Amino acid sequence: MKVELLPSSVPASEAQFLVSFLVNDALAIDAGSVGLLADLGRQERVRHVVLTHEHVDHIASLPILLENVYQPGSDCVELLACSDVLDFIHRDVFNGRVWPDFFALSNDVDRFVTATPIRVLEPLVRAGLTITPLPVSHGVDAIGVLVDDGTTAVAFPSDSGPTDVFWRHAGACPRLAAVFMECSFPDSLRELAAVTGHHCPSTFAIEIRKLDRDVRWIVVHRKPRYAAEIARELAALGIPNLEFVVPGRAYEL
Ligand SMILES: [Zn+2]
Ligand SMILES: [Zn+2]
Repeated sequence: MKVELLPSSVPASEAQFLVSFLVNDALAIDAGSVGLLADLGRQERVRHVVLTHEHVDHIASLPILLENVYQPGSDCVELLACSDVLDFIHRDVFNGRVWPDFFALSNDVDRFVTATPIRVLEPLVRAGLTITPLPVSHGVDAIGVLVDDGTTAVAFPSDSGPTDVFWRHAGACPRLAAVFMECSFPDSLRELAAVTGHHCPSTFAIEIRKLDRDVRWIVVHRKPRYAAEIARELAALGIPNLEFVVPGRAYEL
């Protein structure tokens, strides 16, 4: 399975401002920067977009993506998210003011988007991948996803503080090879991490023990202002198999 965290700074750098993972070039997990890919052909290859929640760093470029890849006809991007997230996106973004109502403009012969509601613990198959939405703990209703190609599985907890159901399900998958795991704040902002449903290094270290399995822990979602501080604190914990994501790198997992 090929996984890439798309760059989200100008020019591209290690700073992560937005969230978009591409899996095998066909599935996007979140749409923070996928609509900013310079290569429109890459945008067109994205056929399915899973939204983990409605925070703007996860949806920022969705209107741009749908605009960019639109061509007259019934072929379009499928947007997969929990029904409340689909509702927020429609009402608050594609509302005819912030952006055209691509939902209302889509009909049987001409479509900008198809919206598919998903539910936690109900797997679905897209682009040859089994995608299992799992609940996480982020202050707003948010999901993580487990993506499994039958040979390898990769876990994307998205934004989450301490949580449990996600790890039970991820840990039950014998093919699990890697987790793209958030650590948003340094320990000096532990309280802020707690109230906003995020991790800091000390809670990260406790959290990963919930998974009784050797995997690659690939750290994502460091707030750029604190990225070096978070890296120092995590490195000091001596966690095995820990690495920091390189935006734009294609991870073959
Ligand atoms: Zn969030
Ligand atoms: Zn986020």
